[in-house]
Amino acid sequence: MDMSVTYKDVESAAFRLEGKAIKTPVFTSRTANELTKAQLYFKCENYQHVGAFKFRGAFNAIACLTDEQRKAGVITFSSGNHAQAIAYASQLHQCKALIIMPKDAPEIKMAATKGYGAEIYLYDRYSEDREVIAQQLSKEQGLTLIPPYDYPDVIVGQGTAAKELIEEVGSLDYLFVPLGGGGLLAGSLLSAKHLLPNIKVFGVEPEAGNDGQQSLRKGEIVTIPAPKTIADGAATTHLGQYTFPIIQNLVEDIVHVSDKELISMMLFFAERMKMIVEPTGCLAAAAVMKKNLPIEGKKVGVILSGGNVDLKQFAKWVG
Ligand SMILES: *Cc1c(COP(=O)(O)O)cnc(C)c1O
Repeated sequence: MDMSVTYKDVESAAFRLEGKAIKTPVFTSRTANELTKAQLYFKCENYQHVGAFKFRGAFNAIACLTDEQRKAGVITFSSGNHAQAIAYASQLHQCKALIIMPKDAPEIKMAATKGYGAEIYLYDRYSEDREVIAQQLSKEQGLTLIPPYDYPDVIVGQGTAAKELIEEVGSLDYLFVPLGGGGLLAGSLLSAKHLLPNIKVFGVEPEAGNDGQQSLRKGEIVTIPAPKTIADGAATTHLGQYTFPIIQNLVEDIVHVSDKELISMMLFFAERMKMIVEPTGCLAAAAVMKKNLPIEGKKVGVILSGGNVDLKQFAKWVG
């Protein structure tokens, strides 16, 4: 696997995903435009397979393996959207998948993952290290480890969402992207800065977990304790060795929003746009609605990264 990735690799990923990933819709909202005095274009990855952009990177990564590797199978550690993405992408490739999940992961997520035909390996998150288990099982069973963000073929797969958005709406002045470990942001930067060299791209993370912003300021990867936030998809503790250099080179800045702002955003999407967007999926939109960035009169792309949320919990948050 080539470790330095460029826009050309995003193009190759887009070719592999043709007819496999959903070309998700781009929605606009007159109310959101009025509130921000900007023209907003929401790229709705909540309508992607498995309900999040993660399908793009997972499918591309498995498609890039050799026949032998696919025959042996893949392994990953995640309790969230990446697990379901790997499970479903493996099913499409008729390849075995082993997913390492904490014993106390929500039943609904385990059921969904099993539903795609993946095998689940349960571990105790208080006494065991999932990355160590993954390395060990990968070695013992000859499985290829596909981590959730720090993996070149995953990064370029994630970059296809921004590529589609720009191809659909044309020139944009700004692009806002949710940020966890940085696969989505790094991929989006490769696409956006290639297609529109003058675009300003912002990463948005939860206030409680602003390791990305700290890393950018310090010029090196900063690791923080596991953050407490409702944006579970971005509750990462550090950026990756592949994602950080791309972000450091190309991003305009990294900003953050509070859980309260995420909840207001979820409510807005449900009431005004009739959409369910999960907390992490609202990060970029919430930053734009904060109105503390100079976007007035500008064309602004906003990636809604996913829509997987327990509806009872959703009701409690917005109620
Ligand atoms: C994983 C995920 C993110 C963060 O993506 P990274 O590539 O880790 O930065 C954002 N939103 C959703 C819905 C996710 O599942």
